Amino acid sequence: NHEFDVVSAARNWRLDGMSRQVSSDVVNEVFARDVLTPEELRQRLSKPVWKSLQATMERGAPIDPAIADTVALAMKTWALEKGATHYTHWFQPLTGATAEKHDSFVSPTSDGSAIAQFSGKDLIQGEPDASSFPSGGLRATFEARGYTAWDPTSPAFILRHSNGATLCIPTAFASWTGEALDLKTPLLRSIEALNKSALRALALFGVTDANKVSSTLGAEQEYFLIDEEFYYRRPDLVMTGRTLFGAKPPRGQELEDHYFGSIPDRVLSFMTDVEHQLYALGVPVKTRHNEVAPGQYEIAPIFEHSNIAADHQQLIMQTLKNTARRYGMVALLHEKPFAGINGSGKHCNWSMGTDTGMNLLEPGETPHDNMQFLFFCAAVIRAVDLHQDLLRISVASASNDHRLGANEAPPAILSIFLGAELTDIFERLVSGKSLTGKSAGLLGLGTPVLPPLPRHAGDRNRTSPFAFTGNKFEFRAVGSSQSISMPITVLNTIVAESIDALTDEVEALMKKKKSFEAALQEVLKSTYKKHSRIVFNGDGYSEAWHKEAAKRDLLNLRTALEAIERLTDEKNIELFAKYGVLNRRELEARQEIMFDQYFKTINIEGETTEWIAQTQILPGALAYLAELSGVGVKSKALARTIEQVSKAADALSDALEKLKVQNAELGGDTVHEKAYHMRDRVLPAMQEVRKAADALERIVADKHWPLPSYREMLFVK
Ligand code: ADP
Ligand code: MG
Repeated sequence: NHEFDVVSAARNWRLDGMSRQVSSDVVNEVFARDVLTPEELRQRLSKPVWKSLQATMERGAPIDPAIADTVALAMKTWALEKGATHYTHWFQPLTGATAEKHDSFVSPTSDGSAIAQFSGKDLIQGEPDASSFPSGGLRATFEARGYTAWDPTSPAFILRHSNGATLCIPTAFASWTGEALDLKTPLLRSIEALNKSALRALALFGVTDANKVSSTLGAEQEYFLIDEEFYYRRPDLVMTGRTLFGAKPPRGQELEDHYFGSIPDRVLSFMTDVEHQLYALGVPVKTRHNEVAPGQYEIAPIFEHSNIAADHQQLIMQTLKNTARRYGMVALLHEKPFAGINGSGKHCNWSMGTDTGMNLLEPGETPHDNMQFLFFCAAVIRAVDLHQDLLRISVASASNDHRLGANEAPPAILSIFLGAELTDIFERLVSGKSLTGKSAGLLGLGTPVLPPLPRHAGDRNRTSPFAFTGNKFEFRAVGSSQSISMPITVLNTIVAESIDALTDEVEALMKKKKSFEAALQEVLKSTYKKHSRIVFNGDGYSEAWHKEAAKRDLLNLRTALEAIERLTDEKNIELFAKYGVLNRRELEARQEIMFDQYFKTINIEGETTEWIAQTQILPGALAYLAELSGVGVKSKALARTIEQVSKAADALSDALEKLKVQNAELGGDTVHEKAYHMRDRVLPAMQEVRKAADALERIVADKHWPLPSYREMLFVK
């Protein structure tokens, strides 16, 4: 009986015996306790070995096999001290999740005892049976193996569970023919591409002390928490991560009382626990708060180098999911777990920084600094305009389709919010107006005495998919459940290309005897002129913007499938090949996998919808009807209710029969055809079933309703 669930859910949380006394630890003591930091490793290695390893970590030099055994021994010793019993290569296959295969440190010896074994070979390379990971045809079926290769630029760490701990070694994952089968490999390649282009441009500006430019990333993760009593009574949540049924509750987010509201005790205790674990893993968690929808929250770390940020993002998602269970809750990371109220995103704050601590997207103190800032800004503007398709593709999924374009998340149309001040400066550049003086914004080019650009552009625009926020760009279309690797890979690559293009132009003008300043000014001007259509500071949710965007000829790829189609456009194949990020075969494989995942996601949703409607909702409605029909008293209310329920049940039954027909078909033999069948036939049929079921939910007696309602799930905390 589900009424009982509500009460037990409400009672689930009692502090007694639950407290893990996380607050008594000092963050400083806990931070990175379970991370084999470079410093920790240095202390455990001899000087020559450390120097050699450092060359690998910092400059990507191939690891010297001669030192691998020594490093492995140091790692093992550290891990055993930390209580680890197993080790695993930790990698990120194209499912978007992480994968691990644990091997015990302990190996039996011939005399019947056991020794701890972990060699250089075990560290550097693993051979998981890769046949069960998506490869998009890259791994021929006769060659089931793939291999994992150690990524020494992301530190190893210990993952703890209730009964032990495992040493996790971040690795890349590739096929034997060398093609990337994961999300980390192209990310690492794109980081290198950006490094090269940015260093080249910086040299033009006379910056010679920087040895490295890295992309930096801070991701804000949104999620929902519901009581697990409800979760396990919702097969749709268990199977698909979202509710396929559910009438809108009488109270949603209208009261706007949840956002930044005080955090319920159970949730706050959970968050504290999560943070504590993440601190130990070296994840610099900073912010926590309630989000807009009831039951929705956010967690955000301080930004890091994007490779590490991407690894940490996976750990954040995993820790949220695992920890929620200890508090009798389930963390929902799906982009749209509940229809009719806000979905969840993962804003990616992105910038570029040098190893000397300079943020390339931070306006500076001097005109010279500001010219440099405008140069990199212009490169981003150009990149986003030229590659709207790639950014859209990088966030394309069946689940994110519910969010993009619904009036709560950025639209599927890419545009850039620059803010009034920065827009003004670029416009003045184009029109040749003075860049100095009171009315001329605050930035000067060429004149020695000028006030600096304000650090934080004042106005905020929540409706833009890609916003300048003072010293970084925030990509807001990223979905809450996805890996951030692909969006960062795309950003790094397209900006690398734009930086190169602008550098080429400046150099060409200088060859024609223009001064650096004059050349730069000209390039900024022509770049902005060409690409300003992508800049939009208004309301991205409005109908007017959709019309305006069409006039500007901006792409509007409404659904994931239209976006995925473009991944292998010649322009994209050329771009990724030029920067050595992904080759044609790798791109084709990724496209195939994206279609396949889209197909599978909706296929499962369609089947689950049918299953629940047929075996739970319809029987519930019919039982109620039978009960009413057996009452045997004459009453107007009774007759009316019977008629209403009967009609609504018929509607559900009709819609259900139609869905069954679509579910029984696949629409073709290729994943491509199947994906379109799902979008064009199954999704609409599911929608009709849901409409009928949600109408029934409002009139069927509560005791006959088989599923926990939105009202229950969202408000019991
Ligand atoms: P805001 O006030 O715009 O929300 P915050 O300083 O709170 O700015 O930052 C929001 C997110 O942006 C955080 O995750 C933060 O670490 C990240 N961030 C800040 N600076 C950078 C940067 N240079 N590169 C990448 N991310 C950054
Ligand atoms: Mg946010």
